[in-house]
Amino acid sequence: TVDNVLDLEKVAVLGHGHGGTVYKVRHKHSANVYALKVLRFDEGEMKIQQEAAVREAEILKRVDSSFIVKCYGVFDNEVLDTDNGGDLCFVMEYMESGSLLDILNICHTLPEKVISVVGRRVLEGLHYLHGMQIVHRDIKPSNLLINSKGEIKIADFGVSIVAKTNEEHEWCVGTCAYMSPERFDSERWNGGDCDGFAGDIWSVGVVLLECFVGRYPLIDPGQKLDWATLMCNICFAEKMVLPDKASPEFRNFVWRCLEKDWRARGTVEELLDHPFVTTCCSASVEGLLGNASETSTQKSEPSLAKWPD
Ligand code: ATP
Ligand code: MG
Repeated sequence: TVDNVLDLEKVAVLGHGHGGTVYKVRHKHSANVYALKVLRFDEGEMKIQQEAAVREAEILKRVDSSFIVKCYGVFDNEVLDTDNGGDLCFVMEYMESGSLLDILNICHTLPEKVISVVGRRVLEGLHYLHGMQIVHRDIKPSNLLINSKGEIKIADFGVSIVAKTNEEHEWCVGTCAYMSPERFDSERWNGGDCDGFAGDIWSVGVVLLECFVGRYPLIDPGQKLDWATLMCNICFAEKMVLPDKASPEFRNFVWRCLEKDWRARGTVEELLDHPFVTTCCSASVEGLLGNASETSTQKSEPSLAKWPD
């Protein structure tokens, strides 16, 4: 653990997200390297953002798994010298090879062999989280991080929730592009008709399909990227026709994830037993990484993060 945030010195900026900035930092005494995520609270939305940050911190403190990016401490940020201020920061395990989004920017598509390793690791992570009643709600390429051993881990619990509590949750949060059909249906979501776990499985399907086809798969190349088109495609479009080279196992796996009716969708247990991920040969995506983390991001995820007013 890190006891004092003042013992950390900034080395580089790793990236910016909606809620803040992530830095590479070094511990002055031990020389250990960490990632420091500094959350930024905006004037108008302070209360909502603080509540979300507290929820994220609480979840991070509870989770401890080799499939999840570790958090070594949560600090108030009054004392920390960062350029953009910020109110709360998380000291996290540094993932040297960046995110799956970085990898996709370089490789564009991944072979099925690698996709099955990614799928297996993410499912193992979700199995752990779902077992603790935690719904991630924001599985997407930039939240899947890779370390120098080529291990993929789930990060970022900014919109995660603990299921089956009676708290009311915002239903349309996370990045819309990776959201499941039922998440667009506020009545069903708020009415307790679904617990949200199936939504994480849907996102896994979208991510793996994206790795295979080399672009965000639920919008056709010629289609306009706006939220109405996106929602229509997610909720109503026919199954995408996969290229002939896709194996029957992969086809079946993604369609079990992308079943529009959440009740009929594969569960994490069922999918962990699926031939597509039981036959994968290693626990890492090593060899593929190259210098992924050093290359700047050219492509970004479809950024329809916010529900329109
Ligand atoms: P969003 O705000 O929608 O989650 P995001 O995932 O890109 O978008 P952040 O979670 O703030 O935003 O992360 C920004 C970037 O910082 C990530 O894309 C990733 O490349 C990098 N990053 C985040 N956490 C780590 C980490 N623990 N180790 C190494 N790099 C990280
Ligand atoms: Mg993120």
